[in-house]
Amino acid sequence: MNKIKMTTPLVEMDGDEMTRILWGVIKEKLILPFVDLKTEYYDLGLLSRNATKDQITVDAAQATKRLGVAVKCATITPNRQRMEEYPELTEMWKSPNGTIRAILDGTAFRAPIVLPCIKPVVKNWEKPITIARHAYGDMYKAVDMTTEEPGTAVLTFQGKSGGSKTLTVQTVDGPAVWQGQHNTEKSIRAFARSCFQYALSQKQDLWFSTKDTIAKIYDGEFKRIFEEEYEASYKAEFETLGITYFYTLIDDAVARVVRSKGGFIWALKNYDGDVMSDMIAAAFGSLAMMTSVLVAPDGTMEFEASHGTVTRHYYRYLQGEKTSTNPMATIFAWSGALKRRGELDHLPDLVRFGERLEAASLKTLEDGVMTCDLLPLVEPGFPARGVDSWEFLDAIAARL
Ligand code: NAP
Ligand code: MG
Repeated sequence: MNKIKMTTPLVEMDGDEMTRILWGVIKEKLILPFVDLKTEYYDLGLLSRNATKDQITVDAAQATKRLGVAVKCATITPNRQRMEEYPELTEMWKSPNGTIRAILDGTAFRAPIVLPCIKPVVKNWEKPITIARHAYGDMYKAVDMTTEEPGTAVLTFQGKSGGSKTLTVQTVDGPAVWQGQHNTEKSIRAFARSCFQYALSQKQDLWFSTKDTIAKIYDGEFKRIFEEEYEASYKAEFETLGITYFYTLIDDAVARVVRSKGGFIWALKNYDGDVMSDMIAAAFGSLAMMTSVLVAPDGTMEFEASHGTVTRHYYRYLQGEKTSTNPMATIFAWSGALKRRGELDHLPDLVRFGERLEAASLKTLEDGVMTCDLLPLVEPGFPARGVDSWEFLDAIAARL
Protein backbone atom coordinates (compact mmCIF):
# COMPACT_ATOMS: atom_id res chain seq x y z
CA MET A 1 0.00 0.00 0.00
CA ASN A 2 0.94 3.65 -0.26
CA LYS A 3 1.84 4.95 3.14
CA ILE A 4 -0.42 7.63 4.63
CA LYS A 5 1.14 11.03 4.10
CA MET A 6 1.66 13.69 6.75
CA THR A 7 2.23 17.38 6.04
CA THR A 8 3.32 18.82 9.41
CA PRO A 9 5.48 16.89 11.86
CA LEU A 10 4.36 16.14 15.39
CA VAL A 11 6.67 16.32 18.38
CA GLU A 12 7.89 12.91 19.54
CA MET A 13 9.25 12.77 23.10
CA ASP A 14 11.01 9.51 23.85
CA GLY A 15 11.35 8.32 27.44
CA ASP A 16 12.70 5.69 29.80
CA GLU A 17 12.82 2.03 30.80
CA MET A 18 10.08 -0.41 29.76
CA THR A 19 7.95 2.25 28.11
CA ARG A 20 10.95 3.27 25.97
CA ILE A 21 11.28 -0.34 24.81
CA LEU A 22 7.56 -0.52 23.99
CA TRP A 23 7.77 2.87 22.26
CA GLY A 24 10.18 1.46 19.68
CA VAL A 25 8.16 -1.72 19.12
CA ILE A 26 4.87 0.20 18.74
CA LYS A 27 6.44 2.41 16.08
CA GLU A 28 8.04 -0.49 14.27
CA LYS A 29 5.00 -2.79 14.22
CA LEU A 30 2.00 -0.46 14.25
CA ILE A 31 2.92 2.91 12.79
CA LEU A 32 5.90 2.92 10.43
CA PRO A 33 4.47 0.20 8.10
CA PHE A 34 1.39 2.38 7.45
CA VAL A 35 2.28 6.02 7.97
CA ASP A 36 4.97 8.10 6.32
CA LEU A 37 5.72 9.36 9.81
CA LYS A 38 7.01 12.89 10.26
CA THR A 39 8.19 13.76 13.75
CA GLU A 40 10.51 16.20 15.47
CA TYR A 41 12.27 13.81 17.82
CA TYR A 42 13.33 14.81 21.34
CA ASP A 43 14.98 12.25 23.56
CA LEU A 44 13.64 12.91 27.07
CA GLY A 45 15.32 9.80 28.42
CA LEU A 46 16.97 10.58 31.76
CA LEU A 47 20.55 10.50 30.46
CA SER A 48 19.73 12.78 27.56
CA ARG A 49 18.06 15.25 29.94
CA ASN A 50 21.15 15.07 32.11
CA ALA A 51 23.53 15.58 29.18
CA THR A 52 21.61 18.68 28.05
CA LYS A 53 21.05 20.01 31.58
CA ASP A 54 17.35 19.45 30.94
CA GLN A 55 17.37 21.90 28.02
CA ILE A 56 15.94 19.12 25.82
CA THR A 57 12.72 19.15 27.88
CA VAL A 58 12.32 22.90 27.40
CA ASP A 59 13.08 22.53 23.67
CA ALA A 60 10.48 19.76 23.35
CA ALA A 61 7.84 21.88 25.09
CA GLN A 62 8.61 24.85 22.85
CA ALA A 63 8.45 22.67 19.75
CA THR A 64 5.03 21.50 20.95
CA LYS A 65 3.86 25.11 21.17
CA ARG A 66 5.09 25.65 17.64
CA LEU A 67 3.72 22.46 16.04
CA GLY A 68 0.54 22.07 18.13
CA VAL A 69 0.70 18.29 18.71
CA ALA A 70 3.03 16.03 20.72
CA VAL A 71 3.22 12.44 21.88
CA LYS A 72 5.26 11.61 24.98
CA CYS A 73 6.66 8.41 26.40
CA ALA A 74 6.77 7.96 30.19
CA THR A 75 9.93 9.33 31.79
CA ILE A 76 11.80 8.86 35.06
CA THR A 77 11.46 11.68 37.57
CA PRO A 78 14.69 11.24 39.52
CA ASN A 79 14.57 10.89 43.30
CA ARG A 80 17.34 10.06 45.77
CA GLN A 81 17.26 6.37 44.86
CA ARG A 82 17.65 7.19 41.16
CA MET A 83 20.65 9.39 41.96
CA GLU A 84 22.36 6.26 43.31
CA GLU A 85 21.17 4.13 40.39
CA TYR A 86 22.55 6.67 37.87
CA PRO A 87 25.75 8.07 39.43
CA GLU A 88 26.39 10.21 36.33
CA LEU A 89 23.40 12.46 37.16
CA THR A 90 24.63 15.96 37.93
CA GLU A 91 21.31 17.11 39.39
CA MET A 92 17.98 15.73 40.60
CA TRP A 93 16.18 16.96 37.47
CA LYS A 94 12.58 18.11 37.88
CA SER A 95 9.62 16.17 36.52
CA PRO A 96 9.51 16.68 32.71
CA ASN A 97 5.72 16.67 32.90
CA GLY A 98 5.81 19.57 35.36
CA THR A 99 8.19 21.52 33.12
CA ILE A 100 6.11 20.90 30.00
CA ARG A 101 2.85 21.75 31.79
CA ALA A 102 4.29 25.04 33.04
CA ILE A 103 5.53 26.05 29.57
CA LEU A 104 2.25 25.13 27.85
CA ASP A 105 0.12 26.50 30.74
CA GLY A 106 -1.85 23.31 30.18
CA THR A 107 -4.45 21.18 31.90
CA ALA A 108 -4.16 17.38 32.01
CA PHE A 109 -7.20 15.33 30.98
CA ARG A 110 -7.21 11.71 32.09
CA ALA A 111 -9.49 9.22 30.38
CA PRO A 112 -9.86 5.43 30.74
CA ILE A 113 -9.90 3.11 27.72
CA VAL A 114 -13.11 1.11 28.11
CA LEU A 115 -14.23 -2.17 26.56
CA PRO A 116 -17.17 -4.51 27.13
CA CYS A 117 -15.21 -7.43 28.64
CA ILE A 118 -13.86 -5.27 31.49
CA LYS A 119 -16.80 -3.79 33.38
CA PRO A 120 -16.18 -0.80 35.62
CA VAL A 121 -17.10 -1.18 39.29
CA VAL A 122 -19.99 1.19 38.62
CA LYS A 123 -22.09 -1.02 36.34
CA ASN A 124 -24.01 1.76 34.60
CA TRP A 125 -20.86 3.47 33.28
CA GLU A 126 -20.82 2.59 29.59
CA LYS A 127 -18.53 5.30 28.28
CA PRO A 128 -15.34 6.83 29.66
CA ILE A 129 -15.46 9.68 32.15
CA THR A 130 -12.60 12.11 31.56
CA ILE A 131 -11.30 14.11 34.51
CA ALA A 132 -9.77 17.57 34.05
CA ARG A 133 -7.91 18.67 37.15
CA HIS A 134 -6.89 22.29 37.63
CA ALA A 135 -3.22 21.97 38.48
CA TYR A 136 -2.41 25.29 40.13
CA GLY A 137 -2.97 26.81 43.55
CA ASP A 138 -5.57 26.35 46.29
CA MET A 139 -4.37 23.96 48.98
CA TYR A 140 -1.32 23.01 46.90
CA LYS A 141 0.21 26.48 47.18
CA ALA A 142 -1.21 27.37 50.61
CA VAL A 143 0.50 28.48 53.80
CA ASP A 144 -0.52 26.89 57.11
CA MET A 145 0.22 27.59 60.76
CA THR A 146 -0.88 26.67 64.25
CA THR A 147 -1.31 29.15 67.11
CA GLU A 148 -1.39 28.42 70.83
CA GLU A 149 -3.18 31.33 72.53
CA PRO A 150 -6.50 33.20 72.23
CA GLY A 151 -6.47 35.88 69.55
CA THR A 152 -7.58 37.02 66.12
CA ALA A 153 -6.32 36.21 62.62
CA VAL A 154 -6.68 38.71 59.81
CA LEU A 155 -6.17 38.37 56.09
CA THR A 156 -4.50 41.34 54.46
CA PHE A 157 -3.71 42.00 50.82
CA GLN A 158 -1.25 44.77 50.05
CA GLY A 159 -1.57 46.14 46.55
CA LYS A 160 1.46 47.38 44.64
CA SER A 161 -0.25 50.75 44.25
CA GLY A 162 -0.35 51.15 48.02
CA GLY A 163 -3.97 50.20 48.61
CA SER A 164 -4.88 47.30 50.86
CA LYS A 165 -7.80 45.07 51.86
CA THR A 166 -8.22 43.38 55.25
CA LEU A 167 -10.66 40.79 56.53
CA THR A 168 -11.01 39.21 59.96
CA VAL A 169 -10.65 35.45 59.54
CA GLN A 170 -11.73 34.44 63.06
CA THR A 171 -11.30 35.22 66.74
CA VAL A 172 -10.46 32.12 68.75
CA ASP A 173 -10.31 31.47 72.51
CA GLY A 174 -7.63 28.76 72.41
CA PRO A 175 -5.14 26.91 70.19
CA ALA A 176 -6.09 26.92 66.51
CA VAL A 177 -4.95 25.99 63.02
CA TRP A 178 -4.94 28.31 59.98
CA GLN A 179 -4.49 28.18 56.24
CA GLY A 180 -4.13 30.88 53.60
CA GLN A 181 -4.70 29.91 49.97
CA HIS A 182 -5.08 31.62 46.64
CA ASN A 183 -5.57 31.22 42.95
CA THR A 184 -5.06 33.60 40.04
CA GLU A 185 -7.59 34.77 37.49
CA LYS A 186 -5.05 33.98 34.75
CA SER A 187 -4.68 30.36 35.80
CA ILE A 188 -8.42 29.81 36.25
CA ARG A 189 -9.09 31.30 32.82
CA ALA A 190 -6.40 29.14 31.16
CA PHE A 191 -7.99 26.12 32.86
CA ALA A 192 -11.44 27.07 31.59
CA ARG A 193 -10.19 27.57 28.03
CA SER A 194 -8.37 24.22 28.00
CA CYS A 195 -11.57 22.52 29.19
CA PHE A 196 -13.77 24.10 26.53
CA GLN A 197 -11.15 23.37 23.84
CA TYR A 198 -10.91 19.74 24.82
CA ALA A 199 -14.70 19.31 25.02
CA LEU A 200 -14.95 20.64 21.46
CA SER A 201 -12.20 18.35 20.21
CA GLN A 202 -13.86 15.32 21.83
CA LYS A 203 -17.41 16.43 21.00
CA GLN A 204 -18.37 15.65 24.60
CA ASP A 205 -20.36 17.54 27.23
CA LEU A 206 -18.35 19.48 29.79
CA TRP A 207 -19.33 19.40 33.47
CA PHE A 208 -17.81 21.73 36.03
CA SER A 209 -18.46 21.66 39.75
CA THR A 210 -17.33 23.62 42.80
CA LYS A 211 -18.79 24.51 46.20
CA ASP A 212 -19.82 28.07 45.39
CA THR A 213 -22.77 28.00 47.81
CA ILE A 214 -20.25 27.97 50.68
CA ALA A 215 -17.13 29.56 49.14
CA LYS A 216 -19.28 32.25 47.54
CA ILE A 217 -16.39 34.47 46.51
CA TYR A 218 -13.55 31.96 46.01
CA ASP A 219 -15.43 29.21 44.16
CA GLY A 220 -17.81 31.85 42.86
CA GLU A 221 -14.90 33.29 40.90
CA PHE A 222 -14.20 29.93 39.26
CA LYS A 223 -17.87 29.63 38.30
CA ARG A 224 -17.97 33.19 36.98
CA ILE A 225 -14.85 32.85 34.82
CA PHE A 226 -16.05 29.57 33.30
CA GLU A 227 -19.41 31.15 32.45
CA GLU A 228 -17.78 34.24 31.03
CA GLU A 229 -15.46 32.20 28.79
CA TYR A 230 -18.32 29.98 27.68
CA GLU A 231 -20.61 32.85 26.74
CA ALA A 232 -17.86 34.88 25.05
CA SER A 233 -15.97 32.25 23.07
CA TYR A 234 -17.42 28.74 23.03
CA LYS A 235 -21.23 28.78 23.26
CA ALA A 236 -21.85 29.00 19.52
CA GLU A 237 -19.52 26.08 18.71
CA PHE A 238 -20.99 23.98 21.53
CA GLU A 239 -24.47 24.56 20.13
CA THR A 240 -23.37 23.68 16.60
CA LEU A 241 -21.91 20.39 17.84
CA GLY A 242 -24.94 19.71 20.07
CA ILE A 243 -22.87 19.44 23.25
CA THR A 244 -23.55 21.23 26.54
CA TYR A 245 -21.69 23.03 29.29
CA PHE A 246 -23.20 22.08 32.64
CA TYR A 247 -22.35 23.64 35.99
CA THR A 248 -23.52 22.08 39.23
CA LEU A 249 -22.45 21.88 42.89
CA ILE A 250 -19.71 19.35 43.61
CA ASP A 251 -21.92 17.15 45.84
CA ASP A 252 -24.71 17.14 43.27
CA ALA A 253 -22.13 16.31 40.59
CA VAL A 254 -20.78 13.32 42.53
CA ALA A 255 -24.28 11.88 42.85
CA ARG A 256 -25.01 12.44 39.15
CA VAL A 257 -21.67 10.98 38.02
CA VAL A 258 -22.32 7.73 39.89
CA ARG A 259 -25.78 7.45 38.30
CA SER A 260 -24.62 8.44 34.80
CA LYS A 261 -23.73 6.38 31.74
CA GLY A 262 -20.42 8.31 31.41
CA GLY A 263 -19.25 9.87 28.17
CA PHE A 264 -18.46 13.40 29.37
CA ILE A 265 -15.61 15.54 30.67
CA TRP A 266 -15.68 16.53 34.34
CA ALA A 267 -13.64 19.62 35.22
CA LEU A 268 -12.59 19.96 38.84
CA LYS A 269 -10.62 22.25 41.11
CA ASN A 270 -7.19 21.07 42.20
CA TYR A 271 -8.13 19.10 45.32
CA ASP A 272 -11.40 17.73 43.94
CA GLY A 273 -9.54 16.57 40.81
CA ASP A 274 -6.80 14.94 42.86
CA VAL A 275 -9.35 12.85 44.76
CA MET A 276 -11.83 12.14 41.97
CA SER A 277 -9.23 11.16 39.36
CA ASP A 278 -7.99 8.34 41.59
CA MET A 279 -11.56 7.27 42.34
CA ILE A 280 -12.49 7.20 38.64
CA ALA A 281 -9.27 5.39 37.65
CA ALA A 282 -9.78 2.71 40.29
CA ALA A 283 -13.46 2.25 39.37
CA PHE A 284 -12.66 1.86 35.66
CA GLY A 285 -10.07 -0.82 36.34
CA SER A 286 -6.42 -0.22 35.63
CA LEU A 287 -3.72 2.43 35.46
CA ALA A 288 -2.34 0.62 32.42
CA MET A 289 -5.57 1.57 30.59
CA MET A 290 -5.55 5.29 31.46
CA THR A 291 -4.55 7.86 28.87
CA SER A 292 -3.68 11.45 29.53
CA VAL A 293 -3.74 14.57 27.34
CA LEU A 294 -2.22 17.89 28.28
CA VAL A 295 -4.26 20.66 26.64
CA ALA A 296 -3.08 24.27 26.40
CA PRO A 297 -5.60 27.15 26.31
CA ASP A 298 -4.97 27.57 22.55
CA GLY A 299 -5.77 23.90 21.83
CA THR A 300 -2.17 22.62 21.65
CA MET A 301 -2.18 18.98 22.81
CA GLU A 302 0.38 16.57 24.21
CA PHE A 303 -0.71 12.91 24.45
CA GLU A 304 0.71 10.30 26.84
CA ALA A 305 -0.04 7.30 29.02
CA SER A 306 -0.94 7.98 32.67
CA HIS A 307 1.32 5.26 34.04
CA GLY A 308 5.06 5.48 34.63
CA THR A 309 8.03 3.71 33.07
CA VAL A 310 7.09 0.31 34.62
CA THR A 311 10.52 -0.11 36.21
CA ARG A 312 9.95 -3.58 37.65
CA HIS A 313 9.16 -5.01 34.22
CA TYR A 314 12.22 -3.26 32.71
CA TYR A 315 14.62 -5.04 35.05
CA ARG A 316 13.04 -8.37 34.15
CA TYR A 317 13.34 -7.42 30.45
CA LEU A 318 17.05 -6.65 30.92
CA GLN A 319 17.47 -10.20 32.19
CA GLY A 320 16.05 -11.53 28.94
CA GLU A 321 12.40 -11.94 29.85
CA LYS A 322 9.68 -11.01 27.35
CA THR A 323 7.49 -9.16 29.79
CA SER A 324 3.73 -8.80 29.55
CA THR A 325 3.63 -5.03 29.90
CA ASN A 326 0.41 -3.41 28.71
CA PRO A 327 1.08 -1.02 25.79
CA MET A 328 -2.56 0.13 25.36
CA ALA A 329 -2.23 3.57 26.95
CA THR A 330 0.94 4.29 24.94
CA ILE A 331 -0.73 3.12 21.69
CA PHE A 332 -3.67 5.41 22.43
CA ALA A 333 -1.26 8.28 23.03
CA TRP A 334 0.07 7.72 19.49
CA SER A 335 -3.38 7.30 17.95
CA GLY A 336 -4.61 10.43 19.76
CA ALA A 337 -1.68 12.48 18.49
CA LEU A 338 -2.04 11.20 14.91
CA LYS A 339 -5.78 11.91 14.91
CA ARG A 340 -5.21 15.43 16.23
CA ARG A 341 -2.49 16.07 13.63
CA GLY A 342 -4.86 14.79 10.95
CA GLU A 343 -7.68 17.06 12.13
CA LEU A 344 -5.49 20.15 12.27
CA ASP A 345 -3.95 19.46 8.85
CA HIS A 346 -7.20 18.26 7.21
CA LEU A 347 -5.84 14.78 6.50
CA PRO A 348 -8.85 12.43 6.79
CA ASP A 349 -6.67 9.38 6.05
CA LEU A 350 -4.49 10.10 9.05
CA VAL A 351 -7.54 10.55 11.29
CA ARG A 352 -8.96 7.29 9.99
CA PHE A 353 -5.67 5.53 10.63
CA GLY A 354 -5.73 6.68 14.27
CA GLU A 355 -9.27 5.37 14.62
CA ARG A 356 -8.37 2.05 13.03
CA LEU A 357 -5.34 1.64 15.26
CA GLU A 358 -7.61 2.08 18.29
CA ALA A 359 -10.24 -0.26 16.85
CA ALA A 360 -7.63 -2.97 16.10
CA SER A 361 -6.24 -2.69 19.65
CA LEU A 362 -9.71 -2.97 21.21
CA LYS A 363 -10.63 -5.84 18.88
CA THR A 364 -7.53 -7.74 19.99
CA LEU A 365 -8.65 -7.46 23.61
CA GLU A 366 -12.23 -8.38 22.69
CA ASP A 367 -10.83 -11.47 20.94
CA GLY A 368 -9.40 -12.46 24.32
CA VAL A 369 -5.73 -11.73 23.52
CA MET A 370 -4.34 -9.50 26.28
CA THR A 371 -1.44 -8.68 28.55
CA CYS A 372 -1.50 -10.46 31.89
CA ASP A 373 -2.38 -7.41 34.01
CA LEU A 374 -5.88 -7.45 32.46
CA LEU A 375 -6.65 -11.14 33.12
CA PRO A 376 -7.97 -10.59 36.67
CA LEU A 377 -10.19 -7.74 35.47
CA VAL A 378 -12.21 -9.45 32.73
CA GLU A 379 -15.75 -10.62 33.32
CA PRO A 380 -16.06 -14.15 34.73
CA GLY A 381 -16.27 -16.74 31.95
CA PHE A 382 -14.73 -14.46 29.29
CA PRO A 383 -12.19 -16.57 27.36
CA ALA A 384 -8.95 -14.60 27.77
CA ARG A 385 -5.36 -15.61 27.06
CA GLY A 386 -2.37 -13.78 28.55
CA VAL A 387 0.47 -13.03 26.11
CA ASP A 388 3.70 -11.02 26.24
CA SER A 389 3.87 -7.46 24.87
CA TRP A 390 5.45 -8.54 21.57
CA GLU A 391 2.79 -11.18 20.84
CA PHE A 392 0.12 -8.67 21.84
CA LEU A 393 1.48 -6.04 19.44
CA ASP A 394 1.74 -8.65 16.65
CA ALA A 395 -1.91 -9.56 17.27
CA ILE A 396 -2.89 -5.91 16.92
CA ALA A 397 -0.76 -5.53 13.77
CA ALA A 398 -2.49 -8.55 12.22
CA ARG A 399 -5.90 -6.97 12.80
CA LEU A 400 -4.73 -3.56 11.68
P1 NAP B 1 4.54 2.71 37.13
O1 NAP B 1 5.64 2.76 36.18
O2 NAP B 1 3.21 3.22 36.66
O3 NAP B 1 4.35 1.20 37.61
C1 NAP B 1 3.80 0.80 38.82
C2 NAP B 1 3.28 -0.64 38.70
O4 NAP B 1 2.00 -0.61 38.08
C3 NAP B 1 4.14 -1.54 37.84
O5 NAP B 1 5.20 -2.11 38.54
C4 NAP B 1 3.11 -2.55 37.37
O6 NAP B 1 2.78 -3.45 38.40
C5 NAP B 1 1.89 -1.67 37.15
N1 NAP B 1 1.84 -1.07 35.80
C6 NAP B 1 1.91 0.24 35.46
N2 NAP B 1 1.80 0.39 34.14
C7 NAP B 1 1.69 -0.85 33.62
C8 NAP B 1 1.56 -1.36 32.30
N3 NAP B 1 1.54 -0.54 31.24
N4 NAP B 1 1.45 -2.69 32.12
C9 NAP B 1 1.47 -3.52 33.16
N5 NAP B 1 1.60 -3.10 34.45
C10 NAP B 1 1.69 -1.79 34.67
O7 NAP B 1 4.88 3.53 38.47
P2 NAP B 1 6.20 3.55 39.37
O8 NAP B 1 6.83 2.19 39.41
O9 NAP B 1 5.77 4.19 40.62
O10 NAP B 1 7.17 4.56 38.64
C11 NAP B 1 8.23 4.16 37.78
C12 NAP B 1 8.88 5.40 37.18
O11 NAP B 1 7.93 6.07 36.36
C13 NAP B 1 9.36 6.41 38.20
O12 NAP B 1 10.70 6.75 37.92
C14 NAP B 1 8.46 7.62 38.00
O13 NAP B 1 9.15 8.82 38.19
C15 NAP B 1 8.00 7.47 36.60
N6 NAP B 1 6.64 8.02 36.31
C16 NAP B 1 6.51 8.73 35.15
C17 NAP B 1 5.29 9.22 34.76
C18 NAP B 1 5.19 9.99 33.47
O14 NAP B 1 6.18 10.14 32.77
N7 NAP B 1 4.02 10.46 33.12
C19 NAP B 1 4.15 8.97 35.54
C20 NAP B 1 4.31 8.22 36.71
C21 NAP B 1 5.56 7.74 37.07
P3 NAP B 1 3.48 -4.91 38.55
O15 NAP B 1 4.95 -4.63 38.74
O16 NAP B 1 2.80 -5.43 39.79
O17 NAP B 1 3.19 -5.70 37.32
MG1 MG C 1 -4.47 11.76 43.79
